[in-house]
Amino acid sequence: AAEEGFDIEDVEGAIEAAGHGPLPVLAVVGRPNVGKSTLVNRIIGRREAVVEDKPGVTRDRVTYEAEWAGRRFKVVDTGGWEQDVLGIDASVAAQAEYAIEAADAVVFVVDAKVGATDTDEAVVRLLRKAGKPVVLAANKVDGPSGEADAAYLWNLGLGEPHPVSALHGRGTGDMLDAVLEALPTAPAQTFGGTGIGGPRRIALIGRPNVGKSSLLNKVAGEERVVVNELAGTTRDPVDEMIELGGVTWKFVDTAGIRKRVHLQQGADYYASLRTAAAVEKAEVAVILLDASENISVQDQRIVTMAVEAGRAVVLAYNKWDTLDEERRYYLEREIETELGQVAWAPRVNVSARTGRHMEKLVPAIETALAGWETRVPTGRLNAFLGELVSAHPHPVRGGKQPRILFGTQAGTKPPRFVLFASGFIEAGYRRFIERRLREEFGFEGTPIHISVRVRE
Ligand code: GDP
Ligand code: GDP
Repeated sequence: AAEEGFDIEDVEGAIEAAGHGPLPVLAVVGRPNVGKSTLVNRIIGRREAVVEDKPGVTRDRVTYEAEWAGRRFKVVDTGGWEQDVLGIDASVAAQAEYAIEAADAVVFVVDAKVGATDTDEAVVRLLRKAGKPVVLAANKVDGPSGEADAAYLWNLGLGEPHPVSALHGRGTGDMLDAVLEALPTAPAQTFGGTGIGGPRRIALIGRPNVGKSSLLNKVAGEERVVVNELAGTTRDPVDEMIELGGVTWKFVDTAGIRKRVHLQQGADYYASLRTAAAVEKAEVAVILLDASENISVQDQRIVTMAVEAGRAVVLAYNKWDTLDEERRYYLEREIETELGQVAWAPRVNVSARTGRHMEKLVPAIETALAGWETRVPTGRLNAFLGELVSAHPHPVRGGKQPRILFGTQAGTKPPRFVLFASGFIEAGYRRFIERRLREEFGFEGTPIHISVRVRE
């Protein structure tokens, strides 16, 4: 590295930064109007105000990446959701429950000017039961005079209230320091506790009516074993152990699959939050699509969610029994144009109704997980990069030719690469490298991350 003009510490730092693996997840929960969305904006440093005054606004995006004091984590925003037909307490509880399930730590936001309400108390009970680390944010403390209001919230029994003003930023730095203390360095959901060595975790996701519950019933029959039932809550996240192909798999968050939730407002948002939570808990996402219908924006969002979360991906086209030749032709064209971002995902064409190709599901899942865990030895990677760069050099720009000097794989699950270059590498050339990496090493069923460091 040194003779290529990179400082060894820079190289090590870059590799460490790129190799973080899955990020820990922080959920921000609380009643409507306490300032959750404002606080999330503040945490992720989003400039534009996304706080909407319109009731019933649904947001499909619920997780964001944030960084504080050099540490990165994900934030789940539960602020995009209006009170629904369940009534205020139940809806806040259900929403908080989803978010808490997927999280490694929770920021519980209370409006310090209003004080603790019964709904807040209900959330506190949920938080106690979940046993996740909690940071209590006493919001709307816009000046010193509000500090006393914040102090009242000691009563909630959640430890020190952190007085903040999400709107003006007051106190949020100290609160975030507390958040970093509460967050594990590696997400417990994925690598701690039952994660290691346990059954592989599958999220079966897809928009309503694509056939998720039919598929689950078909593959599992009566053999399913329900685990992780949290009693007494509105909607229980449930994981099920299902044996397929002689192996036990954990299907995460299957309550969302089986129970049909009838909501007027915020139903899409609810579904997105649920999907995001399941994806966070899983290693591989089996994305179910309805082959008889056009690929929709909602399908694409679900795909994007799984890819951005860095999960292994399998695409399953269901209802194959309904297809005629014409539809089949158009479907193939559609897949090419609409699902290019997951052209690398293994694909199965199934029918939950007839049982067609059910036996192909497990091999596809195994392929995707293998791609997700692939590690390319540094020697092999550099031999490959060396050949690639001399056969297909980067275009000359401004009289200079930027070159990839060397690279290394910083992590797996999904594979992450850091490339070190002598100058700015254009997006087109990066895509070219990704394509060639895939051709050479496989990576079927997995997103791959490539970051490029440029020598100063
Ligand atoms: P959510 O429903 O919990 O996501 O709440 P929002 O973030 O939408 O905020 C609800 C209202 O409270 C908005 O009008 C915000 O501008 C306001 N608000 C949020 N944080 C603060 C704060 O720190 N101080 C004051 N004074 N108002 C705030
Ligand atoms: P979910 O909302 O994704 O769980 O979807 P469901 O499993 O409830 O299925 C929605 C509808 O599609 C139901 O009427 C199912 O009978 C139907 N369905 C599911 N899978 C298939 C299939 O493979 N072929 C056909 N023809 N219909 C299916």
